[in-house]
Amino acid sequence: MPSMTIKEFVAKEKEQLSAEVAALPHIPHLVIIQANDSPASDAYVRGKIKDCDEVGARATLCLLPPTTEEDYLLGKIAEYNEDEDVDGIIVQLPLPSHISEAKVKLAVDPKKDVDGFHPLTSFVPCTPKGIVDYLTEEGFPFVGKNAVVLGRSEIVGKPMAKLLLSKHCNVTVLHSRTTEEDKAFYIAHADLIVVAIGRLGFLDARFKYKPSAVIVDVGINRNEEGKLRGDAVAGLPVALQTPVPGGVGLLTRLALVKNLIIAAKSR
Ligand code: NAP
Repeated sequence: MPSMTIKEFVAKEKEQLSAEVAALPHIPHLVIIQANDSPASDAYVRGKIKDCDEVGARATLCLLPPTTEEDYLLGKIAEYNEDEDVDGIIVQLPLPSHISEAKVKLAVDPKKDVDGFHPLTSFVPCTPKGIVDYLTEEGFPFVGKNAVVLGRSEIVGKPMAKLLLSKHCNVTVLHSRTTEEDKAFYIAHADLIVVAIGRLGFLDARFKYKPSAVIVDVGINRNEEGKLRGDAVAGLPVALQTPVPGGVGLLTRLALVKNLIIAAKSR
C-alpha cells in the first residue's frame, strides 16, 4: 500500500518547492511554446501554468497557430534562448507535421531545456524523473530489482530504462516486436513494471504478477465512455499500482517545476 496518494505527495512537494522559490533572488520563468490547436495540449498547458502559479514561478504561453512555419518557430526559440529573463523553455508536443520535432528539440538551449529532450541537456526528462522521485518516496528498493519497461519511446521508455539502470535495477525493455510469450515471462518476474505504450488496459488479468510488484501506469487513453484510463486495468493483484488519472501525469508536471527551479538556480 502506498504511504500517501500521488495527489498528497505532489501537494507536499509543492509546499517545499514554494519555499525554495521564495528564497530565490528572482522568480523562475518558464516559456511554453504551443504550435497546435489540440484540446489535449491545451489541457496539459493549463496544468503546467497552474503548477508554476502554485509554487510562485512565472509561466508565459507563446501560442502559435498550427500553420506556423518551421523557421518562425525556430526563430522564437532562439529569441527565448537569448532572453536572460527566461529560465526554461518547453515546446508542447505534438508539433504540426511540417515541423521537424528533432530540429526543434535541438534548437532549445540545453541550459534551458527543462523537458530534458536535448542530447546535451543535464535535465532528466520529466516523466521518468517524476516516477523515480515518487518511487523513492515510497521506499522502492531499486538496487538489484527486476524492472520491466513496456515501450521504448524517446520521451518515456528509453529515458526511463536509462534512469532505472542508473538506480541499479536489472532493466528489460519490451516493445511491439516482443512476443506475447516473452512479455508474460518478463512481467511475471518483475518487481517494477512501467507501462508506457498507449494501449487501453493492456496489462490485465491474463498476465501473472508478483504480489509484491509495483505497476507504474504512464498510459493515457480514452475508454468507450470518453474517460481517461491507463495502459493497465485498475485493481491488479500487486502491492502498488498508480492510478490514471491522478497518477503519472501529476508526477510529470511536478518534475517539470523541479527542473525549472534547478534552471533558475543556475541562472
Ligand atoms: P509512443 O511514442 O507512441 O511509443 C509507444 C511505445 O509502445 C513504442 O515503443 C511501441 O513499440 C510500444 N508498443 C506499442 N504497442 C505495444 C504492445 N502491444 N506491446 C508492447 N509495446 C508496445 O508513446 P509515448 O510517447 O512513450 O507514450 C506512451 C503512452 O504514455 C501514451 O498513452 C501517452 O499518452 C502516455 N504519456 C503519458 C505521460 C504522462 O505524463 N502521464 C507522458 C508521456 C506519455 P515500438 O517501438 O516497437 O513501436
